[in-house]
This record gives sequence, structure tokens and C-alpha cells, in this order.
Amino acid sequence: MHSPPVLIRSTFFIIILGAVLATAGCGSSRQPAAGVAAAGVDTARLREAVSVLAADSLQGRFTGSEGAAAAARYIAGELERLGLEPVGDSGYFQRVPIQVTKRADGRRRFSFYPSVRAWGLLPPEQQLMAVNVVARLPGADSTNLETVVVGSHYDHLGIRRPVDGDSIYNGADDASGAAGALEIARVLAAGPGLKRSVVFLFTAGEAIGFIGTHYYAEYPAAPLGETVAALWLENIGRPDPLVGPGVAWITGSDRTNLGRLLEDAGIDIEVEPDPRPEQGVYLLTESVVLARRGVPAHTLSSFGFHDDWHEPSDEIETIDFAHFGQVVTSAIVIVRYLATGTPPQWYRGGQPERSNF
Ligand SMILES: [Zn+2]
Repeated sequence: MHSPPVLIRSTFFIIILGAVLATAGCGSSRQPAAGVAAAGVDTARLREAVSVLAADSLQGRFTGSEGAAAAARYIAGELERLGLEPVGDSGYFQRVPIQVTKRADGRRRFSFYPSVRAWGLLPPEQQLMAVNVVARLPGADSTNLETVVVGSHYDHLGIRRPVDGDSIYNGADDASGAAGALEIARVLAAGPGLKRSVVFLFTAGEAIGFIGTHYYAEYPAAPLGETVAALWLENIGRPDPLVGPGVAWITGSDRTNLGRLLEDAGIDIEVEPDPRPEQGVYLLTESVVLARRGVPAHTLSSFGFHDDWHEPSDEIETIDFAHFGQVVTSAIVIVRYLATGTPPQWYRGGQPERSNF
């Protein structure tokens, strides 16, 4: 997600510490969600995907870098192996043109660019090409255009200021969303046909302004008017102390009737409302881009504002794969519902201000 203001973040640590102390023991008393095995989630695959994406050899997979391209090729290869349909503009890849300019202080500024063709006319030093990876699991009825988007970002911060001699920002927890989405794709592709298509969108440029998601919103694989819902996965590799191991939280749960629909359908999963709405995470995660265009969209996360976030220390050793597997299991239940059940609707006033950017 985007960085919240530093002041809020440090204040937040005090709040979270107080909350953890107040509810000590609460999280650990939870039973694991039933059915990792039933859903078929394979934590070994989650581990493999994170180990590929967060490897030092990918150099922190900065947007448009060779490391990010290697990550995109890995994801596309997995999607191809699963038999998903390529729905990018170049097979599984959707080119995402980015303009790079210099700020007054010499730092680079990355901007969304609305078309590949116009981007080609920019001076070469201003051109950076990244890719989203996009694939579709077709619905059972090919005449039904209704689609669910499962989103996650796969690239990250790259090489930055060294901390304790390490300058590679691996972003293992940030890779958990993409790894989880691959596992959802695998499980759903192996399961019974779904009423609606599911588009798996792996975005570029999340950390530099949701650029890949903005680009997808301009050039979606299925019309946004037919996109009945979107679920993003973000930082699901470690438990959030506020909700406990095996549990995820969802942004914007007071904005749509999705929670009510799941309840009415008798679906009981370990998902709670965002435990700290005052942080504004709903507006700081990529799903809000589609929400602003009218698609009921949420982000599933278990981010506990840990100290390794956006630091070189965010390595695979910090990932809790038992927890991660539980969250992916919950995500599968939600996506399956979205692809078969009654589509969620906005509550009155729930949709964030409509915007095309
Ligand atoms: Zn992230």
C-alpha cells in the first residue's frame, strides 16, 4: 500500500501496542479456519512463489526493471501452465507505459501515461515500459460477460539505501499477494466451472502510484460495467496482531453488502473488518482505483504495520506460511462466491468519490 504519513504511522504503533496488550491472548485462542485442505491450498506452492519473487536475484523487482520482467515471466509461465487464457495486449502481458521525469531535487518522478502510442513519442530518457500480467479463467457460459477481478501487485521497490549492508528491498510480504493470487488461480482452475469469468491481474507500479492498476482501468480485460466485483490481496504473509493468526481483514466492509451476502449464504470465514479504519487503508490500496469507477472492490490483508515493511529486512524468513495458507483459503471462498453468487452492491454513500484517475 502507499505509505501513510510518518506521523500517523508512528502514532499508530502506540495505538497498536495498546490494543495488543488489551487483547493479549485473544488472537492465539482462535482455532485455525477449517479447510485449508478442503480448499486445496498448497503452502509449498505459496513458499515457492514467494521465494522466486522475493529472491535477491530479482533485485527487489523495481517497476520496469529486468528483475520485475523476470517476475512477470515467472507469473505468466505459471498462468500458462494452469491453462488460463492470456488477456493482455502481448499474450499474458499488458504493456504499461510510464513517463519518467526529474524533480527539482533530482529524484525521479514516475507518471501514468494514457497510451503506448503517445508514449512512443516521448524522448527516450523519459520512457519506462513495465507490464501487468493478466489472465482469465473463463466462466462456464461463454455468453456471460460478467467478470470478477482478483488483483495483486507483483513488483516492488528495487535497490535503495542500504540498511545493515543490505540494499535489496525483497518485499516478501508484498510478494504474498501475487503468490496468493497464483494459488487461487490454481485451485479455481482445478475446481468446478464458475458462473462468471475471473480475471487475475498482477500489477506493475503499485509503489509509484498504482500505475498498473490505473492502466488496467483504462484498458480492462472485461468492461468495468460487467466487472461485478474485485478483490485485491495485499500483504497477507504475516498475521496482524490485532486480528490474530489465520485471520485476514478486509477494507471497506461497511461500504458494500458483501459481508451480509456471505453471511446470508452461510459462509463462515476468518475475515474481519479493517481493524484500524482511521489509517485510511481503504484509500491506500489498489482496489480503490476500481472502486472509484464503480466496481464494488475490497482489499484482503493481514498487514500489521510490521517494522520490516518497505525495508530490506522484508525477507521470506519472516513469512508465516500456515497463516498465509489460511488467508488464501478464505480468499478462495470469497472469490468463489463472487464468481457464482449474488453480486455485491454499494451501500448508499459507500462508493468513494467517482473518478477516472
Ligand atoms: Zn504491497
